Amino acid sequence: MAGCCDHDVRFEGVSDAYKRRLWLVIAINAAMFAVEMSAGQAAQSQALKADALDFLGDALTYGLSLAVIGMSLRVRATAALVKGMSLMAMGLWVLGTTLYRVLYTGVPEAEIMGLIGFLALGANLASVLLLMAYKDGDANVRSVWLCSRNDAIGNVAVMLAALGVWGTASGWPDLIVAGLMAALFVNSSVQIIRQSLQERRAAALGDQNRAA
Ligand SMILES: [Zn+2]
Repeated sequence: MAGCCDHDVRFEGVSDAYKRRLWLVIAINAAMFAVEMSAGQAAQSQALKADALDFLGDALTYGLSLAVIGMSLRVRATAALVKGMSLMAMGLWVLGTTLYRVLYTGVPEAEIMGLIGFLALGANLASVLLLMAYKDGDANVRSVWLCSRNDAIGNVAVMLAALGVWGTASGWPDLIVAGLMAALFVNSSVQIIRQSLQERRAAALGDQNRAA
């Protein structure tokens, strides 16, 4: 679900045409992060905010992967570390505010939740179509596909939460879905941070060996 797309994506050697599509996908994901996060605030829906995290994660993953093409392992690992730490900060914030809402629960606006969840699904489908149409993205096609499928599951979870909120007139379905997604997200950001620290150590060792 949330934070599924955190694996290292390498775009070394992709064509300029494919890069242009990637920038378009990055723009879609960044815009959807802003839309879903502010809709989550407006509708008082934690599930929307948790789902928005994945758009941020994907925009950062693709953006950084493109920006660090051809750079040293140390630079790539540092970029991944910064990404992991910002994702963790966002994830902890959503998780914390979700726990807070367990105590001071209200009823989010189910219509906005359902509508934005559907829009998010459309944005993810558009992204996968943009990336899969290109044959020179072959190596990445499988990971893009898996990632988008998991993202779609997250979008559907938000729509189910909206249905649950609407049916029960309570905030619980929203909080349960949000709590699960935010916890998964924090967990995967820990893995990103751990892996990037290992890579930084490996890069430092490599530098030492070269100097010796
Ligand atoms: Zn994703």
